Amino acid sequence: MKNNSLSIVIPAHNEEDNISIIVDNIISSLIGINYDYYILFIDDGSTDFTLKKLKEISSVNSLVKYISLSRNFGHQNALKAGLDFVNTDIVIMMDADMQHPPSLLIDLIRGHEMGFNIVNTLRKDNYNVSFFKRLTSKWFYIVINKMAEIEIDPGSADFRLIDNKVLAVLKGLDETEFFYRGLIKWVGFSQTTIDYYPNSRFSGVSKYSLNKMLKFAIGGILAFSNKPLYFAAYLGLFFSVTSLFYVPYIFYAFITGKEVDGWASIVASIAFFGGIILLILGIIGLYISRIFDQGKKRPNYIIKENN
Ligand code: UDP
Ligand code: MG
Repeated sequence: MKNNSLSIVIPAHNEEDNISIIVDNIISSLIGINYDYYILFIDDGSTDFTLKKLKEISSVNSLVKYISLSRNFGHQNALKAGLDFVNTDIVIMMDADMQHPPSLLIDLIRGHEMGFNIVNTLRKDNYNVSFFKRLTSKWFYIVINKMAEIEIDPGSADFRLIDNKVLAVLKGLDETEFFYRGLIKWVGFSQTTIDYYPNSRFSGVSKYSLNKMLKFAIGGILAFSNKPLYFAAYLGLFFSVTSLFYVPYIFYAFITGKEVDGWASIVASIAFFGGIILLILGIIGLYISRIFDQGKKRPNYIIKENN
């Protein structure tokens, strides 16, 4: 029995061919550490043989545990399931596809031993990351940092170490839509960051389609910012003030008897303002839908089985 404990939380959705390689790599990079540790996989509703692989490995290797969710709840909810389950001095979360190099685990732990509560990682872009991913990721962080009220480092991912103080705070949060990159900044504590070059995905394909990334980005902005609501309000104010300039023209047209002219401009302005009203209603609607979801208080995940 060692003095300290560590858990490694890994969400996995259809990662059947990555499980054994990541387990082997983690174990060999942690040889000799002064921590009792285990690896916890969260099978996030996989439709391939991920769960079967997890059962096989965990039956022969006591370092491997798993939770299997009743369906696909998404990466952030799978992380939440993992964090709720573990109870160790430190926790490391990482992806299952080997893009987050297991060789970095030791550096993360060293960061914690230097006194940091949170050790973040920052991805340095290289050609192991597709052009599409680099482009969308760059814009993701530009937009989110402009809109949200917290600053997130471009290239941060859900690859980090947290200690039990931070774990307790994260466990206590009750949000419908978790956005850990933002929450980690928001919790504070002492944080440091380690740079790394990602590997290419070992097997399988990325689970983040453009549509999923877009939803993830909008979710992140809505969870951390009221700016879109201010934008809507300012836009409304701007157009109400500008429309006042139209009043003298109305008088002029009335006095000179030209009031029937201007059909095109009326139709154009109706279409224009109709569009803006719908946009603003849409923005408000997005926030209301979050309140609606939060009000229902459904759990973020449902556990089907675990070992
Ligand atoms: N993932 C998950 N549930 C999902 C989507 C992804 O648990 O609905 C896991 C996935 O198995 C991986 C991590 O989240 O371990 C990151 O996903 P991925 O590698 O596909 O994203 P990318 O690296 O392309 O951003
Ligand atoms: Mg990946």
